[in-house]
Amino acid sequence: MTMMQDRQECSRQSCRWTGVYAEMVNQPNGDGFSSTFVCPKCGCDSFYVIDKPIESERVNHANRLIKLIATHGRKFLSHENKIAHMELGKGGKVFYVDAYTRRRVYTNREHIQWSGLSEGGTMQSLISHLKRYILDGTPIDKRLIAPKCFREDGSNIWGYDPVEADKLREQAFKLPMFQEV
Ligand SMILES: [Zn+2]
Repeated sequence: MTMMQDRQECSRQSCRWTGVYAEMVNQPNGDGFSSTFVCPKCGCDSFYVIDKPIESERVNHANRLIKLIATHGRKFLSHENKIAHMELGKGGKVFYVDAYTRRRVYTNREHIQWSGLSEGGTMQSLISHLKRYILDGTPIDKRLIAPKCFREDGSNIWGYDPVEADKLREQAFKLPMFQEV
């Protein structure tokens, strides 16, 4: 039996939205009493249950970093208050669940464009580093977080407000995945 809190994935290949029933659209069937849950992205009414992610301390660290990035400056890795997150699946598969597309983006293959990713190359690169950290504990270079571009105004490559970027870095570097440079 399908539980209301089970995570579902939209059956439509071009969509693959993931979420729970509470986030779907409950559409009346027109008969005056019944309704059908449909995908909020594509309107499809066919879903399947996906496995619960594997619990992992390093995934939690990665997700704390994502949350910091998503709550500072230009709020990368988020969309309309929804924050992206990473998941570890069976067989060492690492997924990035995109805040905009809501798809589970498969991250193990690097240097190709990932389908379902709404972020640009800079964020894809950072997510690749997080994937490596999740899989084997490879530390993350501090220079990957809102790197300063050595301009006099203290601006950074991400275009984050300098004060926000400083706050982000200060909090991020308390997380255990960074190496000193
Ligand atoms: Zn869909």
